[in-house]
Amino acid sequence: MIRNPAPGNISLFTSFVLTILVGISLALLQAPFSKVLLFSLLFFLASFFVIMFALDTFIYRKIKLIYKIIHNYKTHKFDKKLFKFKLNDDPLKRVNEEVLSWAIDQGKEIAALKKQEEFRREFLGNVSHELKTPIFNIQGYIDTLLDGAIYDAEVNIEFLKKASRSADRLNQLVNDLLEISKLEDGRMEMESERFDICEFTKEIYDAMELRAAKRSIKLIIKEGCDKPFWVIADKKRIRQVMVNLLVNGINYGKEGGYVMLSFYDMDKNILVEVADNGEGIDQKHLPRLFERFYRVDKSRTRDSGGTGLGLAIVKHIIEAHQQTINVRSTVGQGTTFGFTLAKAK
Ligand code: ADP
Repeated sequence: MIRNPAPGNISLFTSFVLTILVGISLALLQAPFSKVLLFSLLFFLASFFVIMFALDTFIYRKIKLIYKIIHNYKTHKFDKKLFKFKLNDDPLKRVNEEVLSWAIDQGKEIAALKKQEEFRREFLGNVSHELKTPIFNIQGYIDTLLDGAIYDAEVNIEFLKKASRSADRLNQLVNDLLEISKLEDGRMEMESERFDICEFTKEIYDAMELRAAKRSIKLIIKEGCDKPFWVIADKKRIRQVMVNLLVNGINYGKEGGYVMLSFYDMDKNILVEVADNGEGIDQKHLPRLFERFYRVDKSRTRDSGGTGLGLAIVKHIIEAHQQTINVRSTVGQGTTFGFTLAKAK
């Protein structure tokens, strides 16, 4: 009926209808035409202003107030221009739109906060659980030693060694946690330098030979890749990335198998791939693999000595270099992690 229900239009329409009714009533009462016309005109003007005033004072001002509050809340600032409603403005429509967009924004914010809260809770739970295991072990060995095992030459050294291993694990876990917290809040500065990643790989391979030999795993460089690939990155941090990926390759790779590194020139970047021919990872785990404490096979992987934070740290380091990391895997065939580094001129 009224296309734009602004206060001016509503008043105009209502007074017009009322005036017609009054005019008809007067005509029925056989009042003279000139008086009907004059009275109707006066009635029209009076009713128009009374209705306008009533609508504006009792309804629209209150709506405007709601609008202002929502708008102020959303923008955190006061823009006077936005609050001047003209006579033919439709405040209801504007309030409606504003409330709707506000509700959508709030909904998104609440969903993000809930997710963060869930992450935080899960993380706290995981940290407590991970810390509890070595503490519980250390406590157990010490109590047993104090209860008399200290005098038993057959077990005392063994128990002390086990307690010491648990303390090392605790230390490693706390160090990884500190590292991750520094990486997450951007406190860790990257010190970029130019180096040959292929040569660097050989140095790391030398240091890891013993570990690989324990599982008879060969550390190799793919054919055709054994040549210089110059990159610009934080050498110390990239060592950490490579060591984490190689340790995983050795731990989860096939006994008697291999871990192979390959390099590809990608115009602006160098792509580094670390592949193993181990048991592989089911596709369903891949999207969550880089999350803190995410493990595919919980009991087995914890036995391998890892903290469950290795891949999360790797991802943070690569992202701090403004580069990317990805993983592909086939169950029964192996896993390949690939990350890019900025190519040096
Ligand atoms: P962890 O300390 O447990 O090794 P990571 O963050 O390094 O923690 O790895 C997370 C999980 O991803 C591991 O527990 C393991 O289940 C899986 N994973 C990592 N690398 C490999 C790999 N090369 N092959 C198979 N599974 C892997």
